[in-house]
Amino acid sequence: MTRQPDAPPDPLASRLREHGLRMTPQRRRVMAAVTQLVHATPDQVAEAVPEIDLTTVYRTLEVLEQIGLLAHTHLGHGAPSYRLAGDDHVHLVCHSCSSVVDLPADLTDALAAKLLAEQQFRLDRSHFTVFGTCADCAARTTHAASKTGDSR
Ligand SMILES: [Zn+2]
Ligand SMILES: [Zn+2]
Ligand SMILES: [Zn+2]
Repeated sequence: MTRQPDAPPDPLASRLREHGLRMTPQRRRVMAAVTQLVHATPDQVAEAVPEIDLTTVYRTLEVLEQIGLLAHTHLGHGAPSYRLAGDDHVHLVCHSCSSVVDLPADLTDALAAKLLAEQQFRLDRSHFTVFGTCADCAARTTHAASKTGDSR
């Protein structure tokens, strides 16, 4: 029963098997939740799968990252955000409103090439988040600063 030509390949099950791990309902549910949420902290995943306790969610996210199915980045000061590992892109995060914009990974090509040439440093761009102020917040700040008297 090793050949099932009619069944679609299940990348999650086969990846788990390669690492000597079993497919479990928890692993499938956590994977589905991250897929749906796009970026998800452990707390957000736990909210999406209330039948699985938080400790199991944490452990499952770690296992799925170790076997290369998930990757994480940091979109704020708190917990890391997990996403599908194949989805390689760069994140812009606004300090003020916490909005997240996904940009193509080639945005960092010039930086990565410079770091490699000058520092022999290899940029881990899937872990790379650019923090700053989005256009909306910059406009609001400029507007507020132009008023006399701080209302806060
Ligand atoms: Zn990290
Ligand atoms: Zn903003
Ligand atoms: Zn993203």
